[in-house]
Amino acid sequence: MSFEPCPSSLIDTHCHLAGDEFVDDLEAVIARALEAGVTDAVCILDAASGVERQRVDRLRQLWPSLRFAAGLHPHHAAQVAADEVTRLVSEVLAQTSAVAVGEIGLDYHYDFAPREVQQVIFADQVALAVARDLPVVIHSREADADTLAVLDTHGGGRARGVFHCFTGDQALAEAAVSRGFHLSFSGIVTFPRADALREVARWVPADRWLVETDSPYLAPAPRRGGRNEPARVQAVLETIARCRGLSIEEAQAQAWRNANAVFGATPPSRGRVDTPTTMC
Ligand SMILES: [Zn+2]
Ligand SMILES: [Zn+2]
Repeated sequence: MSFEPCPSSLIDTHCHLAGDEFVDDLEAVIARALEAGVTDAVCILDAASGVERQRVDRLRQLWPSLRFAAGLHPHHAAQVAADEVTRLVSEVLAQTSAVAVGEIGLDYHYDFAPREVQQVIFADQVALAVARDLPVVIHSREADADTLAVLDTHGGGRARGVFHCFTGDQALAEAAVSRGFHLSFSGIVTFPRADALREVARWVPADRWLVETDSPYLAPAPRRGGRNEPARVQAVLETIARCRGLSIEEAQAQAWRNANAVFGATPPSRGRVDTPTTMC
């Protein structure tokens, strides 16, 4: 499955529209997204949640171009028996014709599951993604070295995808890009104190950045703290455009191409680290 090239469209590459937070006014949320020019989104499904799976048909009806990704989040790594994870995630991938495995990864900030368990569950899903030739959507928090180690060990040099809600430093950005990965920026890049992150957004090669909302989380400035929704991906795009010296139209077209490279049929080139010519 690939996205049709449409440079005037905007895509929110990471949102949780199947969550409880959107049940009451999903139609209005989607209408606002479309009005804002956000024609597409990747909806992240929690593979362990039967409730989210039940909402897929309604989501599809309301937003036919919506794509899905499915995975077992590190927060829930202890909720499913390790030998069941691959079967469970495979089932949801098939049910939804998913374009990616995710979100998956390691979260050592909350440590909701033991770290060894998180690592095993992450590794199995990386292997699954590689076997299916699907990208991964990675959630990595305070776990940079182990995240890279799992990708290197279990990706067999073929893992690709995106570090979602990227908040890492320059070293992690370079490590991710040199492995062929994309960095996805969320509303955090709009926060007043996020100068270091905006530096990364300026540095990242032109073909390696994406924008997302992570709705309902991470509302961009100035609505910080409220419920987020896909329409607000525009604010993230505007910040990235400003950092990189692009017009909104140029940024939008680039974001679209990059999303297509990750979630469409054509894998991105690997190992390239070119330096952008634009400045913040
Ligand atoms: Zn996440
Ligand atoms: Zn998320």
